[in-house]
Amino acid sequence: MSLCHGIAAAAADAPLAPWSFERREPGPNDIRIDIAYCGVCHSDLHTARGEWGGTMFPCVPGHEIVGTVTAVGSAVTAFKVGDLAGVGCMVDSCRTCDSCKEGEEQYCQNGMTGTYNGGPDGVNTYGGYSDHIVVDAGYALHIQQGQDLAAVAPLLCAGITTYSPLAHWKVGPGQRVGVVGLGGLGHMAVKIAKAMGAEVVLFTTSESKRADALRLGADVVVNSKDKAQMQAQANRLHFILNTVAASHNLDPLIGCLRRDGTMCLVGAPEHAHPSPQVFGLILHRRSIAGSLIGGIRETQEMLDFCARHGITADIEMIRADEINTAYERMLKGDVKYRFVIDMATLQDVAA
Ligand code: NAP
Ligand code: ZN
Ligand code: ZN
Repeated sequence: MSLCHGIAAAAADAPLAPWSFERREPGPNDIRIDIAYCGVCHSDLHTARGEWGGTMFPCVPGHEIVGTVTAVGSAVTAFKVGDLAGVGCMVDSCRTCDSCKEGEEQYCQNGMTGTYNGGPDGVNTYGGYSDHIVVDAGYALHIQQGQDLAAVAPLLCAGITTYSPLAHWKVGPGQRVGVVGLGGLGHMAVKIAKAMGAEVVLFTTSESKRADALRLGADVVVNSKDKAQMQAQANRLHFILNTVAASHNLDPLIGCLRRDGTMCLVGAPEHAHPSPQVFGLILHRRSIAGSLIGGIRETQEMLDFCARHGITADIEMIRADEINTAYERMLKGDVKYRFVIDMATLQDVAA
């Protein structure tokens, strides 16, 4: 066992605070990664505050992990000591069900094991707000050298969660794609959809983000509170990726889809969206769908795609002891566009 320093929520209503725990020694198939940076996803907040139910405490969030391999098990061939490596939202799955065999481990029919908050065996797992992690090499990702490592970290969740549906619905040249919400996920969706060759329409509730959205690659920015701007998009879009972290009326967005268009929901708010109008779907054969992160193979494909296109996240680096303030700012939409914790600062606060 090795002692690991991290930051944890002890209960849903407790602020995150330094906490130490033990991790296993690397087994034959494991690698140990010393964590350099970890992104702060809205799912971390939902989980640490028990908003989805089922949180096991203490909760050490963090599933946008990048760092350096410091040990490899005897059977590991894909990584060596000194390599850069990443870990996203899952660290294991059953490996035998259809989803696992088809490389879609996130949809494991027996339940994948989250990087934090455990899996089907009910044993808790502790995430990336910590100084190191031990993980099966088959669930770790290769990070190319020469990139801004801190800005790569958010790709491990925000990147793959947006890349996967954009790829699945075959977004590309000649298509008009809506992205709803310019947060961590949304800003990655804008960059990736643009790199895939689509025309990108960004819907935001924050007029102040207009200039940034254009800089990030949006062709059109729509203030979703403005009826005339919404009306201008009616029946236009082939695909919409909705990343909003709060309950909202889906009907005005569904109205922006063209015939046969799909709106895919990746935002997972605490409270349900109001039920959409059936006629909005029937009349133009429109669909509503959902999507969960992406498989390991596709996550590697996304990392390589982003490296090739020079895509990383726009980040604000924080210290480990700034995490509670960061959560409050994230709730206000006050982040451009992903907080990333510098794990070197953990040693100043370690318990
Ligand atoms: P975030 O950085 O907080 O961004 C969410 C964006 O939603 C905000 O920037 C804001 O954009 C918009 N928004 C509008 N009204 C809001 C409100 N009342 N409260 C909060 N946001 C509001 O969050 P994120 O990290 O991108 O995550 C977004 C959602 O996706 C979360 O629910 C998260 O749990 C979920 N998620 C899902 C998956 C998956 O696999 N499906 C993976 C990761 C995260 P504007 O200011 O532009 O309106
Ligand atoms: Zn996430
Ligand atoms: Zn499985």
